[in-house]
Amino acid sequence: MTDQVVVALDVGGTGMKCALVRPDGTVEHSERHPTDAARGPAAVVETILDVADALAGKARLDGLTPIALGVAVPGVVDEGRGVAVWSANVGFRDVPLRELAEARLGLPAALGHDVRAGGLAEARLGAGRGARHNLFVAIGTGIAAAHIVDGSAATGAHGAAGEIGHILVRPRGPLCGCGRAGCLEAVSSASAVARRYAELTDPVATAPTVTAAEVAALAAAGDPPARQAWSEAVEALADGLATGQALFDVETIVLGGGLAQAGAQLLEPLRAALHDRMTFHREPRLVAAALGDEAGCLGAALLALDTLEKR
Ligand SMILES: [Zn+2]
Repeated sequence: MTDQVVVALDVGGTGMKCALVRPDGTVEHSERHPTDAARGPAAVVETILDVADALAGKARLDGLTPIALGVAVPGVVDEGRGVAVWSANVGFRDVPLRELAEARLGLPAALGHDVRAGGLAEARLGAGRGARHNLFVAIGTGIAAAHIVDGSAATGAHGAAGEIGHILVRPRGPLCGCGRAGCLEAVSSASAVARRYAELTDPVATAPTVTAAEVAALAAAGDPPARQAWSEAVEALADGLATGQALFDVETIVLGGGLAQAGAQLLEPLRAALHDRMTFHREPRLVAAALGDEAGCLGAALLALDTLEKR
């Protein structure tokens, strides 16, 4: 059927990326909406259902046939049961989102985890295409990963696989949001890079005044504290990725998220640092993500299509 589309939503703490996607991965239409998480989880769920319903309606008006819905959300997600178990930034606590969506739209639905959905899309449609074993690592405010084998992402027994940001890389290092000192994301996330630069340049500063992208630009221009903050982040990231490679033995590591937009400035020293850490493990190909911030939404669409295949 050439008129079939999937309704796809990628729900983040601040915004939702939404699209109508054809079964071959082509985006037919896309739109964005604020999540406004401060309203509380019940209101966010209502918005998700309203937006999804309106998109299905738009598809029908355009002469298309919506066949399924895919929703990706952050936090701990039980994909088997279709439940958003826990989320720090959206506030979900055991929300049976798949069931709610199926009841509201009358379409089969899939619920997925945002980073795993993004990794799935990169593996099947983006930078990891052609490799059977991929590790997708998203570096933004936090750091999370998805291990994709033969086009499907491992979810873990409790929906919490891929928390590479909480690998211990610097014992007694900076405090992580999870409460422990020295996690990878406390050293190498975009927010950690900005914080470290602030610490090095203004010891009395209470909050970072520059972003990680600005630190990257300063480092490229030769600014010593920026170069130090950047290289500390790269070294710790190489430690984390080396652990990832020891665990998963992948062909390709795809780097996404805000920090990966630094491109060669991140990839080149990171490749060298990772190379230095390989002993008997095979060195993975290290590449930048290709789908940008649409990856999660495309992944949600793929999950919906996979659901249809299994029925
Ligand atoms: Zn942590």
